[in-house]
Amino acid sequence: MKYHLIYICLIVNVSYMVVSAQEQDLTRYVNTLQGTNSKYELTRGNTYPTTALPWGMNFWTPQTGPNRDGWIYQHFKDSIRGFRQTHQCSSWTRDYAAFSLMPVTGTLEVNQYKRAAKFSHDEEIAKPHYYKVTFENKITTEMSPTERGVHIRFTFPRSGDAYIVLDANNGGSRVMIIPEERKIVGYSKNANRSVPDGFTNYFVVVFDKPFESYGTWKGHEGIITPENKEAEDDYVGAYIQFKKGSKVQTKITSSYISYEQAELTLQQELGKFTSLEQTSHAAQKIWNEQLNKVQVEGGTEEQKATFYSCFFRSMLFPRKFYEHDANGHPVYYSPYDGKIHEGFMYTDNGFWDTFRAQFPLNAVLHPEYHGNYINSLITAYEQSGWLPSWSFPGHSGGMIGNHALSLIADAWAKGFRSYDPRQAMKAMFHEVTNKGPGGPANGRDGWKDYFTYGYVSYPDYRESTAKTLEYCYNDWCAMQFASMTGQAFYEELFKKQIFNYKNVFDPSVGFMRGRQNDGSWYPGFDPSEWGGPFTEGCAWHYLWSVFHDVQGLINLLGGDKAFVSKLDSVFLASSDFKVGTYKRIIHEMAEMVMIDMGQYAHGNQPIQHMIYLYNYAGEPWKSQKRVREVMDKLYNSTPDGYPGDEDQGQTSSWYVISAMGLYSVCPGTTEYVIGSPLFPKMTISLENGKKLVIEAQNNTSENVYIQSATLNGQAFTRNFLHYDELMNGGVICYQMGNTPAPDRGISKEDRPFSISK
Ligand code: CA
Repeated sequence: MKYHLIYICLIVNVSYMVVSAQEQDLTRYVNTLQGTNSKYELTRGNTYPTTALPWGMNFWTPQTGPNRDGWIYQHFKDSIRGFRQTHQCSSWTRDYAAFSLMPVTGTLEVNQYKRAAKFSHDEEIAKPHYYKVTFENKITTEMSPTERGVHIRFTFPRSGDAYIVLDANNGGSRVMIIPEERKIVGYSKNANRSVPDGFTNYFVVVFDKPFESYGTWKGHEGIITPENKEAEDDYVGAYIQFKKGSKVQTKITSSYISYEQAELTLQQELGKFTSLEQTSHAAQKIWNEQLNKVQVEGGTEEQKATFYSCFFRSMLFPRKFYEHDANGHPVYYSPYDGKIHEGFMYTDNGFWDTFRAQFPLNAVLHPEYHGNYINSLITAYEQSGWLPSWSFPGHSGGMIGNHALSLIADAWAKGFRSYDPRQAMKAMFHEVTNKGPGGPANGRDGWKDYFTYGYVSYPDYRESTAKTLEYCYNDWCAMQFASMTGQAFYEELFKKQIFNYKNVFDPSVGFMRGRQNDGSWYPGFDPSEWGGPFTEGCAWHYLWSVFHDVQGLINLLGGDKAFVSKLDSVFLASSDFKVGTYKRIIHEMAEMVMIDMGQYAHGNQPIQHMIYLYNYAGEPWKSQKRVREVMDKLYNSTPDGYPGDEDQGQTSSWYVISAMGLYSVCPGTTEYVIGSPLFPKMTISLENGKKLVIEAQNNTSENVYIQSATLNGQAFTRNFLHYDELMNGGVICYQMGNTPAPDRGISKEDRPFSISK
């Protein structure tokens, strides 16, 4: 029977190879409005209709909210006030270096509230390579992106004066109108505090029609100075007038280096395109090249739409922060030292679980990009003295762990060799034995305590138990890296820290808990109380943060049965919560209640690996069931498409990698833990030219349980696959069924990596 099944898998695969040579238009499945129905109190993604190329330096979006507000575009709003160049990662961090253009008809209005125009979603197309909207006032705007630029076409109605307003934003801006060249140049800063003084976004806006009139404006009140060509202040803008009924195309790009570089980039990226259609087609082709790296078969149209919309969002951050000089060589303004350097630089990522889903996904699907990104982490250290922990675009701090260590160790384990291991080790050691200035910062808050007591004490440090757990895992990463690269001194040093998670586990309550500096537990424990020693969560969520030693955690909890029962209880517990030190309901609490899965809070990152832990305790079928439940229940392709913040690609990457039937619980190993593949068939075209087929025969919404599996014809029962096994290509073939296979994946050898294994 087994051989018979293997035979079918191989045959199907051969016939598929022929078909899969055809590149499909997969952009048709992508809805960039996914997750946009979000607000401060409850987020369904906190996304905006990102119109951009993969990892583009600049994104473009319609803007429904006020300048400088984190909610750029909210699906329930009925007016748009601009088409904006944006760099926003998250509503909570807001934007930097943003500016916008807005077409206006009738009376000239420059103020962002007065110039806003009503629209309906019926008149909107939102794709990665093309966005179009027609306002109630009959102006149509279409835009298509390049990596750093955009091509926009404004079509004005026949009656009514036709204006375009440029809003360079407050926080430092300049505009200069050059009518004879049909051009506006200027800059916009609105920088956050994480970049050096002088950080400037130089923009160039070129039109294809002559100006009928023009002027500048100033301030929030929008004081207009007609016929003025130049303005520079905290907040300035420009306007230009065209003939009534004009169809105006504009090409825009910008540079962090200079006006000259912005002009050069405009030529490099948009020079050859004479129509918006050409730019749009080129952008669509680039997206299709990426999206076709994963072709799926079977599944519903909605599952495909969700998959490709998530896949799209998994390819936006960290963004390219470099430009190309006249010779085509990469060059960049460094947000870390304010100087111009040759080479690659990337920014805008917050490591908030991106280390477990997004980057391990990139290592498989985009190794070239991934290698460059890892290299840029070391470069950031060399330029600034710190590894990134929240780059936006400089060091904005704000994360509790040191997950650059995870990325560096993971990349090395997977064979990436683009960086000097001694320099990387030096950066790691510095990171864990220092703390950057300010509140949330690079390095380690409470590092001296951590190394003295083996934990960060509470209430001396906020979020101290969450910090202890993440530091402990990061120390294991550093140890692993030292071991792989033959740096024995560091290996021994970090080895002493890798069981520190035990120091914050209280067996009397069965949870991780806040611990005081005298060794006693912080009084008044309630597992459903948020904040305090935890970050955006409670003890229910942080119990599982022992990525490198799940077996050790199983031992602490009293063995397999007790561990599984504790995992089960997360879903069985009520969704009641105490606001704790937050003193109010934060959106993550509301989202946990909304998804109605007990204390499982998929809307935030700390618990997103937890479902996969059943694999470590002899009941892998519970991972299989729950992972499918989350994919089915908590995601869709609509504006309500996420169960909480999307967070720079992480929540999307969770879906993509889970749909592949995989998750990376412990980066730093080469293991990908197995879940339950969503589609009957997935063909992954790897950058090395090989193809990996993930087949799940008899897969339906009920048949979520793995009955048996083969890798290139060889049966296997282990609950993980190695990176090389994925990258070598071939066929992973699962037989699916509607009941668990209780004998499969339960032996000690079947369990994924743990140091206590
Ligand atoms: Ca989050």
